[in-house]
Amino acid sequence: MDTTSNLELFFDPSRCFIGGEWVLANGQETLPLENPSTGEILAHIPRGRAADIDAAVVAARAALDGEWGRMAAAERGRILTRIGHKVLERVEDLARLEALDVGKPLRQARADALALARYMEFYGGAADKLMGETIPYQAGYTVYTLREPHGVTGHIIPWNYPMQVIGRSVGGALCMGNAAVLKPAEEACLTAIAFAAIADEAGLPRGALNVVPGLGEEAGAALSAHPGVNHLSFTGSVGVGMLVQQAAAKNVVPVTLELGGKSPQLVFADADLERALPFLVNAGIQNAGQTCSASSRILVQRSLHDALLERLAERYRALEVGPAMADLDVGPLVSARQHQIVSGFLADLGDARIVARGHVADTVPAGGHYLAPALVAGVDPGNRLAQDEIFGPVQVVIPFEDEADAVRIANGTDYGLVAGIWTADGARQMRLARAIRSGQVFINNYGAGGGVELPFGGTGRSGHGREKGFEALYGFSVLKTVAAWHG
Ligand code: NAD
Repeated sequence: MDTTSNLELFFDPSRCFIGGEWVLANGQETLPLENPSTGEILAHIPRGRAADIDAAVVAARAALDGEWGRMAAAERGRILTRIGHKVLERVEDLARLEALDVGKPLRQARADALALARYMEFYGGAADKLMGETIPYQAGYTVYTLREPHGVTGHIIPWNYPMQVIGRSVGGALCMGNAAVLKPAEEACLTAIAFAAIADEAGLPRGALNVVPGLGEEAGAALSAHPGVNHLSFTGSVGVGMLVQQAAAKNVVPVTLELGGKSPQLVFADADLERALPFLVNAGIQNAGQTCSASSRILVQRSLHDALLERLAERYRALEVGPAMADLDVGPLVSARQHQIVSGFLADLGDARIVARGHVADTVPAGGHYLAPALVAGVDPGNRLAQDEIFGPVQVVIPFEDEADAVRIANGTDYGLVAGIWTADGARQMRLARAIRSGQVFINNYGAGGGVELPFGGTGRSGHGREKGFEALYGFSVLKTVAAWHG
């Protein structure tokens, strides 16, 4: 079993990237980064604090006042596209880094690296395509709108999909000509630092992207409260999202919040089960269930419930768990803390029962955070197992009677990120697509392959604002109205 954690790095992970320079954190302190597959220390990252964030914001502002701010949109796009091509050249390096750092199976990490390349290509192509309008108005006036960058954008991202979130968040911001300060998560941030090295190599002007790793309550809080930041994009937990929004309110700056979820898949008796089954399970166990859009609830029409439960159980029993580099179905959880949280849910089942579990390979390293995926039935929709984001490889199966009951249960949480609908009835598909409260609805699929073109975001406690696709560009820019009187 390959558990190798030797890193061949093309950048120095112990440095911040500020104003085009690789610098130690101001206090010269570092933080250890753990390999979740082994428990070993993978690298040391800078412990950035308020002074480093301040230097990064100053550098970003200087970029806006300099070459980056003056650059034609087409040239900006060309640079982003070049970054995308350089990411493609390094897909295997990046995939390996992400797998070792996050603990996700190598092929999932490879998909993330390819997605990052696609984001940069997509936003490279979009840079000169968002246009203003002319507005018919009173005689003697010419009125038009301009789309301008906010200025300095702050990006606080989580550990579960660093490359994907950088692509959709930083990619969109740079596309519109903002200068970005990125604070990656302390649990996993190697690809964020690597991305800075790649962007630098591709010719991104100094200061357009700055990366300051560090703790959330230090570097993250400093970034969200910095008066020089003009827009904040936060991806992470609901609790921290609230803090970031409060900090942004004090500076009256807009915030995009991409938070958690408790996303359902609704399976009707007429569903094509052969197609649905792999999606139903994969949506719960991908990245060991540590996915904002994980489908942690499977709602099943009662007449199908027992038969589907058995078919799901068969699949669960076949799931293999092991180190990221062994590239099995499921990797370890990201940390001992995350393992403890997920185990806590499974230790407090109440009337619910575990129907089937996957299998942790016998030879896994003792220090890894492995947990056998669990399929749970007999869960009351009001139970915390069916209400709270578990963020682990756990899915609950809940029966429903009819369409109205399905909608009531699907909408019965505080979240609203993603929903999947499995039915052959076209009219029902259309009714449910409207009735379900969530940012995304997938019909007879789940996730649609994660396309970078598709706008993404939540409702309720899943957040607000949209990233990905062209839609993100409205959020990463400000509309200015110009009214000229010329008689
Ligand atoms: P988290 O909120 O603990 O951390 C996210 C980021 O916020 C990290 O960089 C962290 O350092 C920083 N942070 C922590 N405290 C902070 C503070 N006081 N001020 C400013 N920044 C602070 O979340 P997590 O555990 O890393 O990630 C898991 C969560 O992220 C889950 O809830 C998941 O659903 C969510 N998520 C959402 C999406 C989405 O698109 N909706 C995508 C990925 C993850």
